[in-house]
Amino acid sequence: MEKQGFFYRDTWAEVDLDAIYQNASAIKRLLPDDVELIAVVKANGYGHGDVEVAETALAAGAGYLAVAFMDEALALRKKGIAAPILVLGATRPEDVHVAARNRITLTAINFEWLEKAASVLGDSSLRIHIKVDTGMARLGFKGLDELKQAEAFLEQDSRFLLEGIFTHFSTADELESSYFQHQLKEFETLLESLTVRPKYIHASNSAAGMRFAGARFNAIRLGISMYGLSPSPEIKSSLPVELNEAFSLHSRLVQVKKLHKGEKVSYGATYEASNEEWIGTIPIGYADGWIRKLQGQEVLVNGLRAPIVGRVCMDQCMVRLQEYAPVGTEVTLIGKQGSNFVRIDEIARKLETINYEIPCIISNRVPRLYKKDGKIVGMHNHVLGS
Ligand SMILES: *Cc1c(COP(=O)(O)O)cnc(C)c1O
Repeated sequence: MEKQGFFYRDTWAEVDLDAIYQNASAIKRLLPDDVELIAVVKANGYGHGDVEVAETALAAGAGYLAVAFMDEALALRKKGIAAPILVLGATRPEDVHVAARNRITLTAINFEWLEKAASVLGDSSLRIHIKVDTGMARLGFKGLDELKQAEAFLEQDSRFLLEGIFTHFSTADELESSYFQHQLKEFETLLESLTVRPKYIHASNSAAGMRFAGARFNAIRLGISMYGLSPSPEIKSSLPVELNEAFSLHSRLVQVKKLHKGEKVSYGATYEASNEEWIGTIPIGYADGWIRKLQGQEVLVNGLRAPIVGRVCMDQCMVRLQEYAPVGTEVTLIGKQGSNFVRIDEIARKLETINYEIPCIISNRVPRLYKKDGKIVGMHNHVLGS
């Protein structure tokens, strides 16, 4: 196939940019016109590709981007993204001039950070959002006194442009909402006691942004659901928009053999054929993020489910085919084949974790292909640096 001209390994991930566009625009349509969509593209766009997701989200109506670390913001600038970018995490205050030079917005996490940043900022000016800790105990100013102190400090230092204030919910994806309401109330109370009204006031991640109109203020930070995933299994059935999974994972059979009863598979010889069985080898393993705990997980071959048998190796694993299939047959590890679908949520359940983790842990050794209108429009092969 032509798309394989750019890499020599029969394993790749596909990112459906149309799905990301549809998810982002459907959620944007839920919002009143004066609520900004901040597209969260940290961690290489949750493993999907930072600049590809950023461009798609901006085209779908996002007006701001967010990442976790300044390095990620700089990477986007290098790749030509001119849109405003907020760094949600902590940046060393001694590095604020880098943000200023690259028009990157930083998060002020406490008063000490502001003072240190002020002492090294020089003549530069810096756009900041103040983070308020309303009950997550991660980052942020705590309580009114510290916020008032910041307000007074910023009033007399015009190098800081206070553009936003925000908080983060810890239980927005749960059915039980009392702690969420408690955090929301705390945030509202603090806002009322301040005299400044920054341009952006935001609190909601995907879950809160979709579920609670009263928590949208004038911007939401959309991450997981832009990628087509539900923030949690328990709210999945009640989400107000239909989400389309953007990430899929593919490989091909590179060897197929018939095993006789009693013959064994992989390290430790832990799997033994109980009959005559067709065993196929696929070139993906734990170094790709397809971790050993995925032993037993089913993949799709010719639309049929085939379990991974024996231990997952660093670079390969073996599957038991329901019927013979030739070398070169496509294997879908995440995604759809015919009427069968292995969803990211299924992989997350198998790994006893959340769906967020799955595309994030598929490593950079796996090339990413980007699809738009059913066509391949780009690819990244980090191994070859292309
Ligand atoms: C990652 C992150 C988000 C996005 O959350 P989702 O649940 O993926 O929508 C929002 N806000 C902050 C502070 C984050 O770190």
